[in-house]
Amino acid sequence: MKIAQLTAEEVLTSLRTSVFGLDVAEAQRRLREYGANRICRERSQPAILRLLGEFSRFFSMVLWIAAGLAFFLESVTPGQGMARLGVAIVAVILVSGGFSFWQEFRVERTLAALRSLLPLKVTVMRGGQAMDIEAEQLVPGDLVLFDQGDSVPADCRLIEAFGLLVNNASVTGESAPQPRDGFPSDREGRIHGRNILLAGTSVAAGRGKAVVFATGMHTEFGKIAHLTQSGGRAVSPLRREIGRLSRTIILLAVVIAVLLFTAGWLMGLPLGQDFVFAIGIIVAMVPEGLQPTLTLALVLATQRMARRNVLIRHLPAVEVLGATTIICTDKTGTLTENRMTVVSLLLGAGDRPVPVREALELESRYRQLFFTTAFCHDLVEKREDGERSWQGDPMEVALLDLARKVLGEPPDWPRIDEYPFDAERMRLSTIQAAPEGATLYCKGAPERVLPCCVETLCETGVQPLTEAMRESIVKAQESMAEAGLRVLALAYRSVGAGISAAEAERDLVFAGLVGLEDPPRVAVPKAMETCRNAGIRVIMITGDHPRTALAMARQIGLADPRREARVIVGDELQLLSDTQLQLALDHPDIIFARVAADQKTRIVESLARKGHIVAVTGDGVNDAPALKSAHIGIAMGRCGTDVAKEAADIVLMDDNFASIVSGIEEGRAVFDNIRKFLTYILAHNVPELAPYLAFALFRVPLAITPIQMLAVDMGTDSLTALGLGVEPPEPDVMMRPPRPPLQRLLDPGLALRAYLFLGMIEAAAVMTIFLLILHRAGWHHGEPLAAIDPLYLYATMASLGTIVLLQIINVFLCRSPLRSIRDTGLTGNWMLLAGVLVELGSLLLIGWTEAGNDFFGTATVAWADWLRIVPFAVALLVAEETRKWLARRSGS
Ligand code: ADP
Ligand code: MG
Repeated sequence: MKIAQLTAEEVLTSLRTSVFGLDVAEAQRRLREYGANRICRERSQPAILRLLGEFSRFFSMVLWIAAGLAFFLESVTPGQGMARLGVAIVAVILVSGGFSFWQEFRVERTLAALRSLLPLKVTVMRGGQAMDIEAEQLVPGDLVLFDQGDSVPADCRLIEAFGLLVNNASVTGESAPQPRDGFPSDREGRIHGRNILLAGTSVAAGRGKAVVFATGMHTEFGKIAHLTQSGGRAVSPLRREIGRLSRTIILLAVVIAVLLFTAGWLMGLPLGQDFVFAIGIIVAMVPEGLQPTLTLALVLATQRMARRNVLIRHLPAVEVLGATTIICTDKTGTLTENRMTVVSLLLGAGDRPVPVREALELESRYRQLFFTTAFCHDLVEKREDGERSWQGDPMEVALLDLARKVLGEPPDWPRIDEYPFDAERMRLSTIQAAPEGATLYCKGAPERVLPCCVETLCETGVQPLTEAMRESIVKAQESMAEAGLRVLALAYRSVGAGISAAEAERDLVFAGLVGLEDPPRVAVPKAMETCRNAGIRVIMITGDHPRTALAMARQIGLADPRREARVIVGDELQLLSDTQLQLALDHPDIIFARVAADQKTRIVESLARKGHIVAVTGDGVNDAPALKSAHIGIAMGRCGTDVAKEAADIVLMDDNFASIVSGIEEGRAVFDNIRKFLTYILAHNVPELAPYLAFALFRVPLAITPIQMLAVDMGTDSLTALGLGVEPPEPDVMMRPPRPPLQRLLDPGLALRAYLFLGMIEAAAVMTIFLLILHRAGWHHGEPLAAIDPLYLYATMASLGTIVLLQIINVFLCRSPLRSIRDTGLTGNWMLLAGVLVELGSLLLIGWTEAGNDFFGTATVAWADWLRIVPFAVALLVAEETRKWLARRSGS
């Protein structure tokens, strides 16, 4: 028989389990037998293939061709040093390929580590106890408890369900949620069985208990997984932009090089010299390390964010986060602690709310009120060492705790049925088998519960609910809400089982109101202030009562108490046209209350139309569309449902609003840092290019050879550039407005500064020192100078040294585009300092060792000549510091 056709008991027996679940030892044994519940990823490419891949990128290909030509020229005209150039070029391909391989490797390792920070958890019964385990530990026979918003981690057969709807879109493509229940079913085929939950789907609504019958690769999803999982990695827009940029530059360089090579050849330049020249042009123009450095900078940023409890699910989110102009946030759990305590109660239709202590004394007359708090919940009971405890929504835990204080341990009345809570209904009802007959207990937003009531509890028993009483109840609710309390109404009635929610939730007896306190998170007021300074607006969107929302907003500094806030409730929002909504959003203090999740999407879209970069938080199933439609969807790691996490770009591991703000800070820093290293890398291309222009235009011997240039690009400047990519955020990063959404990485300002300012100074230094050394030795313009002439070797070493030393000064200048080097200092970034050491070390190797001299075509330069660089170093420092000073002055 198919598993779908069995009764619940038969299912349990056939999988050798019971309503208490497997015992722990048996679960362990099965885990060994059936293996972890994991979809085996396609084996990733072997490292060696990927390394080879690095050597066959576009830029590497250009270099391979160049190397090939060099060896060819060596065979045609030996003795011109062509073989050495060929070897050097190959060395460059190996070094740069190896470097980016290492970077990619770090990227992957970091991303894998980040993924494992947030494993998928499931609640299972084992040995009669509910417990949370990692989904990978699931085995056939496990009894899983499902709740709204949970991912289904394995193929399961339901044995009990309340109002359960499943979203099968990811497996079968059906987009509408399908009802599921625990009864035997005759439908053929596993996929459509009415009592089957498939791995890879999710619970859209309701609750249920199910037995796992297939895990890992044995699930339906596992069987099709190998077809779907080869999707490409998401490429960040930034990476794409950089990729496009560097490909354009490479292409441009190749075209120019080929043109000049042809021109030189037509003018009768010796082929070897002409070729060296062409290679030089390419090397000088191409910013080699840009792409891998960029990726690594992004990934290291995600690592820093993870340390601040912000988990990035998609790499592009890092940069978008930095551009955020508006945050739409939930209240409960994000701005508040979600640590609830009942502080006051309205007993029946009493005339005023009373503090909890007073209420306890009147317990005997209001037993039904406390039964409601005892039974009307979705909590999962846990027993550990004889201790009973309940897990779930902290509000419901608080209400149950209240009941336990009053009634002692709640009686074990089995649950017959349940009408689940969702953000639309804003109430929850359960039906329990009480000794005097089935009783429905209901709790929810007073606006949604009171209309269902016709009678009320009072001191003397049950009374009809009059209009006057309704009014006084609403007044009581408002006075509680104004104190920032979350207010729930409680009601009950006796019912027959098996009727629909619409029929059951009527003619209720109103039992009272409870007011729950939920303190704001400690870090939130400060984070609000940071947002204000950083030009980021915060809008609260909550399902709670408008007055509760406003009171909380004032308490945390989200709304200014001195001016009128604009509070829009869901019903009003429904009536607003798109234009009206867009106008309303201009109000500085705007709060949305009693809104349903689908209205969240509307608010987000409206803000986006106004040109905002919108970040929105969410935790429930219904939040998924809003999370997807926002620029940045942020899900809650602790209280959030799996569905919300799946839809989000970012997961907050501590659910804390303040962490969003830290994330924005890091995001802004990343963008800044990438611009810093762009400035740095582009700057050194000018002093490299200048000698070639001087050669082409004025026949000045090449001040720096291609091999030497490659040494700078690959060897000396790589690590320092990476260092700039991981600079800590600037202290004022959250004191300035968000960057304009359209600001590009490489804007004219940056290009001018790098090329025409910093680069020019370095170029002037190189050419001056080079020519000075030649002239001092009696060389005159137009005289031939052999490539192996000791004077030439000496002079090119001086050029190389000049570039390296000036770039060391430059790297410190690039640590901030505005702040003086006196503020940024020299320390605080080990990668940058290590980079400087590498620069100095390689200079020593190239200039002071025999092997270095031979290979790079250099000679040891006297100390006295090094001093000639000092004036240029000072000039670079003074010029850039002056520019920063002027920019600071005009900025403030
Ligand atoms: P928030 O935005 O504060 O998280 P929700 O959308 O979760 O608000 O809840 C909206 C309203 O629904 C609450 O103000 C409360 O009145 C009611 N509510 C919330 N949770 C429950 C629950 N578990 N049972 C009954 N009613 C609830
Ligand atoms: Mg909520």
